[in-house]
Amino acid sequence: MTVHDKHAQLLTFLHETRHCDAVNQLIDLDTWTKLPKKGQDYRAKTSAYFQGKIAELWQSDQARKLASYFEDADLTPLSDAQKAGVRIFLEDFAKKNRVPLDMQVRYAGLVSTASVMWKQAVKDADYGTLKPYLKQLFEMTRDMACLIFPGHHPHQSLVLMSEPGADTGVIDRLFHTLREGLKPIHKWALENQPEVDDTAIHKQYDVPTMIKFQTFLASLLGYDLDAGAYAEILHPFSSSVGPHDMRFSSSNENLRHGIFSAMHEAGHAAYGQRSSGEAIQNVVWGGCSGSFHEGQAKFFENILGRSAAFWDYAYPHLQRFFPEFESVSKRQFVLGINRIGRSPRRLMSDELTYNLHPIIRYELERELCDGTLSFDDLHTRWNEKYEELLGVTPKNDAEGILQDMHWAGGLWGYFQNYTLGNLYDGQMWHCLKRDVPGCEDQMRAGDLSNITTWLTENIHQHAQIYLPDVIIKRVSGEGLSAGYYLDYLKTKLEGLYA
Ligand SMILES: [Zn+2]
Repeated sequence: MTVHDKHAQLLTFLHETRHCDAVNQLIDLDTWTKLPKKGQDYRAKTSAYFQGKIAELWQSDQARKLASYFEDADLTPLSDAQKAGVRIFLEDFAKKNRVPLDMQVRYAGLVSTASVMWKQAVKDADYGTLKPYLKQLFEMTRDMACLIFPGHHPHQSLVLMSEPGADTGVIDRLFHTLREGLKPIHKWALENQPEVDDTAIHKQYDVPTMIKFQTFLASLLGYDLDAGAYAEILHPFSSSVGPHDMRFSSSNENLRHGIFSAMHEAGHAAYGQRSSGEAIQNVVWGGCSGSFHEGQAKFFENILGRSAAFWDYAYPHLQRFFPEFESVSKRQFVLGINRIGRSPRRLMSDELTYNLHPIIRYELERELCDGTLSFDDLHTRWNEKYEELLGVTPKNDAEGILQDMHWAGGLWGYFQNYTLGNLYDGQMWHCLKRDVPGCEDQMRAGDLSNITTWLTENIHQHAQIYLPDVIIKRVSGEGLSAGYYLDYLKTKLEGLYA
């Protein structure tokens, strides 16, 4: 049997797993949108039954035989897309098989308990309520990561869970350069940004109008409304049901958060919509890593969505949707959405200081993995790092260590992806402007077609075929660097304050 014959068998298996994923996504979507309260119990049973079937599939003889063949097979005759399918299969197989089943079950139970305890801890602003659960969850997640990716430092194994091919040594160096480079820009921005009244953007308006406007913006940015839809969940979310069915939603608590969470989620979804036919055929459609996904979401949200050029075209439309903005100038609005500050809260922070929040969590995770930080001291260390990096101390645990639910949800080793995504964006934006001269003028006229084509050809169509370091080298001729992003921020703020 040739490697091509075996690959054909693998494709059948991969199709089956992706169809199961699609059904899972639909169950999730329905659970968040239309599921009536009394239907929750039966839905939980249906969901658990389905999860069991998926686990059986991954632990079947068929999966085991494919894994043992492909672990040693010579893949030279296969195309890049076919090789990617093998890589993803082996990684998923390890995730589903190297962790004993009883550990997976205990882990799922712990995640659900910790998530409930997190809500209580936030309510009481008391880290102590969550601490024992968080400690257990961290230890279990770390041990699982080490079983799946053996032979590494535990922090490296944790990061590999969401970022294939990542190297914490490289991330450490990038983050060091970024931290140092952001300091003078932050200081300069705080001293030089013009004061404007931006209260109008922090208000909530008629929610159906906000949703209509967000959908309009998503479409303007290049999200394809024929291959997805706004899902009325009212909290930020994106869901990949199929290669041509990518849904998104947003928060609508105020206009600013509504607009930028919608752009962010539409960015995730648009990335998913643009996989090539070859990627779909080889079951490797969708985004290639956590950082790249966050990067594409932030490209919509920040690089395009917070630019003055974009609002040159979009602002009169905003005034059409919301007549309350007739007395607010475009300059006031653009400075308002780009106001630089020092928020202790990641989700309330500005584009520049946002980067420091994931760095703090990433560094704390490393100290926990090294064993140099204990859970007894974690919240104190959190506050110290906020003072050191942002010059602000959270007023209590709810505003500090408890603000994100990632850790209580078992998501350790993920945060670095948000900041890495921004670094990818800075470098990609540099290349896009090099390849598409006049793209900002086109954006001013409401034409983003060349930008969409560039993103599709250089990034999105490749789906999971190539890992981030391959894509960035192809596009820019070099590995990821923090310099492009720092230049982007500096140039942008200088332009805004001129
Ligand atoms: Zn995101």
